Amino acid sequence: MTIVERHLFGPGPSNPYPEATTALAQPLLGHLDPVFLELMDETCDGLREVWGTSNRRTLPLSATGSAGMEAAFVNTVHPGDVVVVAVNGLFGQRMVDVAQRCGAEVVAVEHEWGTPVDVDRVLSAHPSPAIIAAVHAETSTGVRSDVAALGAGKGDALLLVDAVTSIGGIEVRADDWGVDIGYAGTQKCLGVAPGLAPFTISERAFERRVEKPRSWYLDLGLLGGYVGEASGRQRTYHHTAPTAMVASLHAALGRIRAEGLPAVWERHAEAGRILQDGLQDLGLELFAQEGSRLPELTTVTVPEGVDSAQVRAQLLERHGLEIGAGAGAYAASVWRIGLMGHNARPDAALLVLAALREALA
Ligand code: PLP
Repeated sequence: MTIVERHLFGPGPSNPYPEATTALAQPLLGHLDPVFLELMDETCDGLREVWGTSNRRTLPLSATGSAGMEAAFVNTVHPGDVVVVAVNGLFGQRMVDVAQRCGAEVVAVEHEWGTPVDVDRVLSAHPSPAIIAAVHAETSTGVRSDVAALGAGKGDALLLVDAVTSIGGIEVRADDWGVDIGYAGTQKCLGVAPGLAPFTISERAFERRVEKPRSWYLDLGLLGGYVGEASGRQRTYHHTAPTAMVASLHAALGRIRAEGLPAVWERHAEAGRILQDGLQDLGLELFAQEGSRLPELTTVTVPEGVDSAQVRAQLLERHGLEIGAGAGAYAASVWRIGLMGHNARPDAALLVLAALREALA
């Protein structure tokens, strides 16, 4: 089977930004090759830019976004710590599960799906939590929450943020917003294959970390040597770096730097605006609350009487467009349309609109 012109979670016309994919086809570098070590250093620098941080401890973990979530909690939750988790979708729910497995006393602040995190409720959920955790861009609902406001009111707590769907697509300013621990993924707005978890942790959070976390692979104390951040860029062997994936991420970060991060955000914003206006012109109802809608991930209520799966299949077969089903209880009643990375373009938005118009007719 050949996969032609398709892109995970998005429409997938020809890719005008091929750098990340092209890098995957280059000759492989060894994981201790000096050229690769330099490439890794530059990748960490590029990640600091997209995170909006000067954190020394910023690196691509060799695993998917979920491992970023595990690393965040397993390194920072001491048994019995109170962890307040804002839950407004599937990934907030997953944070609760992960934090509990790390021995936290979790205070879950539940929200209706489709709404943003209620900052006041989260900040007043417990008088002295060790950690406050939230998802910046909830991929299950298409909602953006106000991380800066959580950071402004966090007090002595550490702020732990999931930026899987926001990094490289919408504004993320980890340092300005008071984010202490952040994790992301490569497969969303960065436009790289799935498989790495861009991660950052402040010195304050690192000092409070668990000395011997219940994960060897994700122990940030050991990983410092892997990227040379603890010892003047001297490496100690930890695991064999996935060199092709790091080279691909490096290429994507270079491309984003060349375009300019604000221009990349604006491109995502424009594509989302065109799609969301067009969907409403078609008479469709958007699921995420107005004012908190993500441009890169649009959620749509499936109209009464329409077979969600049939429309999705038609889009895929006739146009090579993959749109997502809803998550959890909304599996059959919501569509999720991603315009991320190279798909964040007006022509991609217009293609989705035309294909949906045809399918619904
Ligand atoms: N957090 C959010 C907000 C996500 O959207 C995802 C994946 O879609 C994850 C975490 C988990 O990432 P991964 O599937 O790369 O493990």
